[in-house]
Amino acid sequence: VTLGRRKVAVIGGGITGLTAAFYLQNFAQQKNLPVDVVLIESSLRLGGKIQTLRKDGYIIERGPESFLDYNGSVRELALDLGIEKEMVTNNNGQTYVVVGSDLYPIPNIFMHGGSLEVSSFITTGLFSLSGKLRAAGDLLLPKTREEQDEPIGDFFRRRFGKEVVENLVEPLLAGTFAGDIDHLSIQSMFPQFYQLEKQYRSLILGMKKSGHAYSKNHIDTYQTFANGLESLIEALESKLVPQTVLKGVKVESLDKTKDGTIHIHFNNIAPLKCDAVIMTTPFNATKAIFNRYGLLEDVPEMNYATIATVTMAFKQNELKKYKDAMSFYVSRNSDLAITTCTWCNHKWNNVAPEGYDLLRVYIGRVGDEAIVELSDHDIEKTVLNDLNSAIGLCEEPLFTVVSRWKESMPQYTVGHDQRMEEIKHQLYSEFPNINLVGSSYEGISIPDCIAQGKKAALEMLEEMFQ
Ligand code: FAD
Repeated sequence: VTLGRRKVAVIGGGITGLTAAFYLQNFAQQKNLPVDVVLIESSLRLGGKIQTLRKDGYIIERGPESFLDYNGSVRELALDLGIEKEMVTNNNGQTYVVVGSDLYPIPNIFMHGGSLEVSSFITTGLFSLSGKLRAAGDLLLPKTREEQDEPIGDFFRRRFGKEVVENLVEPLLAGTFAGDIDHLSIQSMFPQFYQLEKQYRSLILGMKKSGHAYSKNHIDTYQTFANGLESLIEALESKLVPQTVLKGVKVESLDKTKDGTIHIHFNNIAPLKCDAVIMTTPFNATKAIFNRYGLLEDVPEMNYATIATVTMAFKQNELKKYKDAMSFYVSRNSDLAITTCTWCNHKWNNVAPEGYDLLRVYIGRVGDEAIVELSDHDIEKTVLNDLNSAIGLCEEPLFTVVSRWKESMPQYTVGHDQRMEEIKHQLYSEFPNINLVGSSYEGISIPDCIAQGKKAALEMLEEMFQ
């Protein structure tokens, strides 16, 4: 550590770590603070889960494909990087749910809660009459007296009944988080619904009064970048001083000297001394690093879902019936292995050449991971079979891109917030100059990760130079 200067290491080069490193560097420059930043990434590329493949006029997202910028953090970052003009908004289209072997349009009331269209709920074929009556019970039922966290499944079953959960809530959540609604936490995943019940008793009335939709602040347009999400990663990387980015270097353990200096040990290079660390690695990787120091040993590992995205290009076929379709989700009542499917070229302009369809599906979810282990060929066969059953597509794709994401989607199960608080407490009492952030902690979405990375950078500088 150079005299007078402070060194901050950011571990993990996904969107959280890149954002943290960028803002550390940016704020330090703006305020003329003597800080050196180093970003450490174990793989040979930056971006973590964000990975765009640009190929023959197609833009293919291997990981995430868009974001709901409910907290404005992506826009702020894009402005600071000078790439805000590249942000694009999705086209509108119909979303469906597959129940049994049929596709049902999702009533607007559920996709855009603010504009409460009760008529579309009454006429939908998605629920039986008794299912609809039970859902309307939300208007009358008292609120729970429990203050404790509960599974998302129990919460929505209590308000809307079993059928709405099976045919709508579960498929939407499985398609988004690949999780098991009987374990995921309502307080950590959907604090806005938990609050709605507390404040308004009925979720339907609460949504109407407060203008709440599924997203946290009634934002229902998705966004991405014209040339794919990796534009964000490329812009971030281009702003970092190249010598401060270490790729292909894995952190194995950490320890500290009496004066609090942290020593980072790697698999392949000499240890690094630094004054503070922002750790953005997934929780289990972080736990392994601290276990070697004798910390977090009694803390259980976190559960992550294993999934794969499969993107296929087709010559535009005669599926005219679905020309306005954007996506469909799949309920557990159907025999399909895929959990959701998006017409990327309907949702976004310029992601496929004229005359071609680009379809992207997800496979795998908690309790159904084995499918991700199949060969590319078998995955392709399964997906084609499912697309044939669901939408009658019976053509061969021009190409298929399979991207496996093993143990990649953190599962915030009941009690998550409290557990994370306890873990941070345990760790920070030993290492007050370390900050844990990223998708394992306070939000999985890209806007949540960016907000966490930026906040960690600001807090770190404030603490160092207060
Ligand atoms: P990561 O991207 O996981 O980055 C962590 C980095 O740490 C990795 O690069 C890893 O290599 C590195 N690392 C690990 N161990 C070490 C070590 N010991 N030493 C050094 N480096 C290490 N979110 C949305 O908002 N919209 C979506 O549409 C969406 N879709 C998704 C689809 C998929 C298939 C997946 C997997 C996620 C999706 N998400 C989506 C979630 C979102 O993409 C992620 O939560 C987010 O990108 C995670 O960023 P991160 O920086 O916290 O973690």
